Amino acid sequence: MILLDYNQLLDKAFAELPHLAAENVDFKIPEPDSLIQGSKTIVKNIDQIADVARRDKDEIAKYLTKELAAPISLPEHRMEISARVQQQELNTKIRRFFEMYVICKECHKPDTHITGRERGYVTLSCEACGARYTIKSY
Ligand SMILES: [Zn+2]
Repeated sequence: MILLDYNQLLDKAFAELPHLAAENVDFKIPEPDSLIQGSKTIVKNIDQIADVARRDKDEIAKYLTKELAAPISLPEHRMEISARVQQQELNTKIRRFFEMYVICKECHKPDTHITGRERGYVTLSCEACGARYTIKSY
């Protein structure tokens, strides 16, 4: 017997009503709260972004390092990018990270997690709808 909690039951109900699911996604991609300091860009809310994504912040740093071609460090509670990055550009990159690697391409819920990694590819599995797919990694 499988016990479902209330959220899982809701997810299940929505999964069975795909047209409703799209309208009921109560999820907002977080925007980076950043500032440029000298030659660096500080992201002050990296913990919050990582929480919403349910990814380790190292994953986001890894993605942004590649996208921005700049070294990134993660001192406590913030992210430091060794480049000057405008808030708008950072916003676009974070948005793309969520669209590619967090939000399920089948049900559009942010309920995926990484279940595999191989030769430059990453496998995402969705807790909400059970979809499982492999895409190019970062
Ligand atoms: Zn899904």
